[in-house]
Amino acid sequence: MSKTNFDFDLIVIGAGYGGFDAAKHAAEHGMKVGIIESREMGGTCVNRGCVPSKALLAASGKVRELADSDHLSKFGIHAAPVRFERRKIADHANNLVSNVRNNLTKTLERAGVTILRGEGRLAGDQKVGLREINGVDRVLSAQDVILATGSDPFVPPGIELDGRTVFTSDEAVNLEWLPRWIAIIGSGYIGLEFADIYTALGCEVTMIEALDRVMPTFDPDITKIAARNLITGRDIDAKSGVLASKVSPGCPVKIELSDVSTRKLVEELEVDAVLVATGRVPSSKNLNLTSLSVETNKGFIPIDDSMRVLSNGRPLPHLWAVGDVTGKLMLAHTAAAQGTVAVENILGNIRTIDYRSIPAATFTHPEISSVGFSEDEASDFSAQEGFQLGIVRSYFKANSKALAELESDGLMKLLFRKDTGEILGAHIYGLHAADLIQEVANALARKQTVIELSREVHTHPTLSEVVEVAYKQAANQLKSS
Ligand SMILES: Cc1cc2nc3c(=O)[nH]c(=O)nc-3n(C[C@H](O)[C@H](O)[C@H](O)COP(=O)(O)OP(=O)(O)OC[C@H]3O[C@@H](n4cnc5c(N)ncnc54)[C@H](O)[C@@H]3O)c2cc1C
Repeated sequence: MSKTNFDFDLIVIGAGYGGFDAAKHAAEHGMKVGIIESREMGGTCVNRGCVPSKALLAASGKVRELADSDHLSKFGIHAAPVRFERRKIADHANNLVSNVRNNLTKTLERAGVTILRGEGRLAGDQKVGLREINGVDRVLSAQDVILATGSDPFVPPGIELDGRTVFTSDEAVNLEWLPRWIAIIGSGYIGLEFADIYTALGCEVTMIEALDRVMPTFDPDITKIAARNLITGRDIDAKSGVLASKVSPGCPVKIELSDVSTRKLVEELEVDAVLVATGRVPSSKNLNLTSLSVETNKGFIPIDDSMRVLSNGRPLPHLWAVGDVTGKLMLAHTAAAQGTVAVENILGNIRTIDYRSIPAATFTHPEISSVGFSEDEASDFSAQEGFQLGIVRSYFKANSKALAELESDGLMKLLFRKDTGEILGAHIYGLHAADLIQEVANALARKQTVIELSREVHTHPTLSEVVEVAYKQAANQLKSS
């Protein structure tokens, strides 16, 4: 029951992780909540992102492991040639998607959230327009409104999609077929994860990167070791500094590659399929933001630290935005955290987010992870603040657990302040890097120093000792400086 004269205390537009967490948190705190969703409940992460891609990575990772006879023979294991059924791997991902989606929907229903199916938009102060799937249009009022409309794949000009031979991650997660030769445009985390899946399942991959090196968004030291394993060591031909200026679907798919600086045609390729993994754009076009004088930054909705939407730099009352559409760190756990923080602020509890302590992971085999500043950012920050930047490296090859697994190619790089010992960032490549980064992220969030952290005892033998060694090396540098 709304405590006000509005139809709802809170209307959330978009039921991805950002909208879901906001709606659930608000309902659990006694608010009357409506959530509007135009597609499937759960948004990108559940239906077209984290969930199906991690299911495919889990299955293809097992195929990779069982097919690696060299690696297995070092343990004295000789497995029969590995066989797999593409359809069943795809089913595994699809089943997981429906399970997670159903659980999420039931959780909202149990919390008392009203699920409204259709397209939402702003219709003035504290008003939301809803065009239902059957075409009926109505206007609902709410004390507060949260925009959580997420993002969609970005497709550069010149690339024509047909969804079958030229597609984005939206279709790739269905694993409808396995092309003999696939070109992946983009070497960010989505491109890398699909390269991992496709190569494990026997496809030949050409990776096309417009910037001058592959994996341009990753730490350069981590890239060196990761690219050696994840790209050069596999059936992947990587091309950087070239633009896929024209891609025409069909059989074969035709690709024109141009030089990034001169735009001159440098190569033509014919492949069986193309996955376009060139980033994501915010879904904010149809929200009628201009009616409240909100100007986006290339579609991203400007917000302040408490998730209030800004108009001309000033927060608008009762209007909030969370998740990918705000362009902060486009990750599911960021969206969810922002959703909770927005509701806390609506409830009158002042809360903000420290984006620098939010970790990110790429779930390749092995994984890559990071938190906080890159080395360049840390170095700029140290020059600005006048302190010395500390950098230490801890190697998996000195770790007993990694050696026991015969998976000792890995590196952790820790960036810290040499004056206070505070952590500024960490970058990891190696077995279970996605799990290892959490410890550093927690330490960063709590502003713990490497001296304190170096005294914490880690279980032996575990991969977490890679982190312990980094802390100890950093603490030694502090003591000796
Ligand atoms: C292949 C892939 C793998 C990924 N893997 C990971 C991972 O491992 N870990 C991770 O943290 N992140 C991952 N991500 C990113 C993650 O999916 C997003 O960061 C996350 O989904 C953002 O959540 P959101 O709530 O902001 O938006 P979304 O999940 O995009 O949800 C927004 C929802 O709003 C709905 N909507 C939009 N406009 C309207 C409207 N006008 N009216 C009604 N409804 C509307 C959309 O239909 C959608 O359901 C991955 C993404 C992809 C594509």
